[in-house]
Amino acid sequence: MFDRLNRMSRMRFHAWLLLPSLLCGAAAHAQFLPENARRIPVQQKKVPLTDASFERELGESSVPPGEFARGNEESLARARLSAFQETVKPLFDSRGWTLTVELLWESAVVNAQATRDANRQPVIRVHGGLLRHPLVVNQADGLLAILCHEAGHFLGGAPKQLRGSTQLRSWTSAEGQADYFATTKCLRRLFQPAGASRLAAAESIAASSVAAPPPAGVPPLPPALESSCERAAEPAVCMRSLQASQLATWIYADVIGTAPPRLDRPDLEVVGSTVLAHPRLQCRLDTLAAGAFCSASDDDAFDDENPSPGSCARIRTPEEPWLTGARPACWFVD
Ligand SMILES: [Zn+2]
Repeated sequence: MFDRLNRMSRMRFHAWLLLPSLLCGAAAHAQFLPENARRIPVQQKKVPLTDASFERELGESSVPPGEFARGNEESLARARLSAFQETVKPLFDSRGWTLTVELLWESAVVNAQATRDANRQPVIRVHGGLLRHPLVVNQADGLLAILCHEAGHFLGGAPKQLRGSTQLRSWTSAEGQADYFATTKCLRRLFQPAGASRLAAAESIAASSVAAPPPAGVPPLPPALESSCERAAEPAVCMRSLQASQLATWIYADVIGTAPPRLDRPDLEVVGSTVLAHPRLQCRLDTLAAGAFCSASDDDAFDDENPSPGSCARIRTPEEPWLTGARPACWFVD
C-alpha cells in the first residue's frame, strides 16, 4: 500500500517537474547568448576575458578587460535597464503589451532571456552575471544590443520559430530575425537623441560615484565600414550600432571561449532553407551589421506573417552583403 502511494506521489512529483520544463522549452531558446558555463558572482571584482585575441582587438585605447571601473554597479545596471525599457516602451505599447524588464542581480549567470508571464505579457529577464561581464561594465552598448535582440523575439515578426517539433509557429521570432530587429528598429531608437540622452543620464549615475571615469572599452570599426556609415541616413547611429553589434557578439564569443568575429570577414555561406535557431556567430554579426545599414524606417514595423515589410530587399553583391541592409543568405532564404 505504502509502496503504491509512494509510486503515485513520485509519478505526480515527476509530472510537475516535467511541466515547467515543457513550458520553458519554447522560451529557453529565446535568448541572444547560448546556455553557457560562465559565472560572474557579485563579489568577483576582476574578470578576465577567455581568449587573448580580445585584448589585441581592443588595442590600447580601452580599459583593460576585467577591471571594474565603477563603484556603484547595481545602481548603474538598474539605470541602464530603465533607460532601455523607457525607450523601447512605445514599440510594445503599439502592440498593446506591457514590457517588464526583470533584473536578477544576485544571479552569476551570464545571460538574458525573452519570456512571457502568466498573462502572456513580455518579460525580459537579465542575470547579474551579464551586467558584470567585462565587456559590459565599462560600456553599455553591447548589453543594449543583447536586450534589443530579446525585444526582437516579441516584435521582430516573421520568420517565427516553430513550436517544439511541430510546424506550428511559436510567438518568438527566429534568432536571426531577432538580431535583424535589434539594429533595424531597436538600437536606432536607443541611439537617436531622446534615447541617447536617457542612456547618458544612466551612465552619469555611476560616473558621479568615481573621480574620473575611464574611457569605454570599444573596439575600433574597420575604416571601410566607417566610411559606409557616413553615407547612411544617420551616420552616428549607424557607427554606434555597428560597435554595439561587435560588442554583443564578442560577449557571445567570450562565453563560449572562442576568438571574436570581425565585421570585415562576413560569412559568405548560402543556406538552402531559412535557419530558425542561432546562426553561426559570424553570420549573426553580419545580420546585426546589415540591420545597421538598412534604409527602412524604424517606424516601419515587421509583420508576423510576411518577412518583407519593414526590411531591406536583397541585392546580389556577395563581396559586401551587409551594405544592402538585407538579411544575409547565411541564414535567411527569401
Ligand atoms: Zn534569441
